[in-house]
Amino acid sequence: MAQAEVLPEVTKFTEQPKMIIGGKTADAVTAKTFEVIDPSTGKAFTEVPLGDLADVDAAVAAAREAFEDRRWAGLRPGKKTEVLFKIADLIKRNIPELAQLESLDSGKPVKLASGEIWAAAEAFRYYAGWPTKFHGETNATDDNMFSYSLREPLGVCGGIIPWNFPMIMASWKVAPALAFGNTVVLKPAEQTPLTAIRLAQLCLEAGVPDGVVNVVTGLGPQAGQALAQHDNVDKIAFTGSTEVGRKILHATEGNLKRVTLELGGKSPNIVFADANIRRASKGSMMGVFLNSGQVCTAGSRILVESSIHDEFVESLVESTESMKVGPALEEDTGMGPVVSKEQLERVTGYIDIGRSEGAEVATGGGVPGDLNGGYFVNPTIFTGVRNEMRIAQEEIFGPVAAVIKVDDVDEAIAVANDTIYGLAAAVWTESLSKAHRVARGIRAGTVWVNTAGLYDPGISFGGYKQSGYGRELGLQSMETYTQTKSVWINLK
Ligand code: ADP
Repeated sequence: MAQAEVLPEVTKFTEQPKMIIGGKTADAVTAKTFEVIDPSTGKAFTEVPLGDLADVDAAVAAAREAFEDRRWAGLRPGKKTEVLFKIADLIKRNIPELAQLESLDSGKPVKLASGEIWAAAEAFRYYAGWPTKFHGETNATDDNMFSYSLREPLGVCGGIIPWNFPMIMASWKVAPALAFGNTVVLKPAEQTPLTAIRLAQLCLEAGVPDGVVNVVTGLGPQAGQALAQHDNVDKIAFTGSTEVGRKILHATEGNLKRVTLELGGKSPNIVFADANIRRASKGSMMGVFLNSGQVCTAGSRILVESSIHDEFVESLVESTESMKVGPALEEDTGMGPVVSKEQLERVTGYIDIGRSEGAEVATGGGVPGDLNGGYFVNPTIFTGVRNEMRIAQEEIFGPVAAVIKVDDVDEAIAVANDTIYGLAAAVWTESLSKAHRVARGIRAGTVWVNTAGLYDPGISFGGYKQSGYGRELGLQSMETYTQTKSVWINLK
């Protein structure tokens, strides 16, 4: 299958991508850069500034100034709406370019990347509705007094995001921050810094004032840490691993800034005997292998009722084997490489662990023969897994599924909840009452019934337990991007 041509605008952008600080392009203060690698080839295709503490300082100063002089917060609500819609339109207009950039940067197939860019635009479209809709309240109090509450922005919001869905993650941080009148410093993951920069450019083009959206590229322990620690930052919205989430939390304690954490998962995907097996196997397959399994909500523990185990596994293996593993820019690729060499080693390491724990490989179990320098892994299904095994407890963040037998609804709920995580779950059944029983019994922030992996900017998203706290999207994001002030007026 032919490789799609790299678009001229992608080539042009990758000639010299730079940070965006105070509305201008910026090199790192040290002038250092780091390479950006294409996971389909293992080769560097561009470099970006290696931002550090000094660059974070500059970006935070720009965001602070833009917040204090109210150049964004002070705009008429309808004007903010207009600008947010314009960002959504610009993203949609540039889908081919942004999708290719995302594919080159992250290794995801270009069709999946196009869907991701579209979803990022939809997040801006959703939040475009908010500036004209949120408001304070009047409060009941003594007859001599009048009290009302103002709903105000938090200030400078830092967004620290991962590499699995770079553009969606950027939009989930920037769009709500802007809708509620905040300013932003975004730190994309070092593996995938490009679309965040492009998004900041599109924000400027749409009329977001200088300094309101800033992007610092750099490494987590330097640029990320500096942002999380910064005394002039009012909030950190972090998406990433539970391990780094803990570090973020420690780093933020100095000025007690607000924190939301969207962390790891080991989500159960439960298939009952009364499910539509074909639909369940296809949905479970996408639920665990989409984006090469690099999805925080991946349904990586597949709990199957014993009586249909063999039939279900056969169907799951068949749909998995029909998916072509290949380079991101090839049009018939169903699953691209994993994002980096480290990730490849981590995933193959877990495949070895699964084997040594006594689980059986039903399909996959290694890397394809013809790697051509890319970080490819065959989608792998383990059967005979017990929930206490490491491959059932630890987040692999790669294309590895663990199939576990369960005997009934109670056991399914118990096994599903036997994890430190609680991000999401899927349940496949034709029984209405069983679906509701499981939805109520599972301790997770999202439960999908007869579907998996769905998101909507209008529906809140976040974790139970060690999958994090705070909610993104939907009505609840108003709470996490604003604060209220109670005003008292003496009427006497
Ligand atoms: P993943 O495990 O998916 O690579 P991480 O949790 O390691 O995700 O990284 C998510 C984001 O957190 C990235 O932008 C990364 O640069 C950043 N990061 C990593 N370590 C730190 C740290 N110590 N402090 C702040 N940010 C960090």
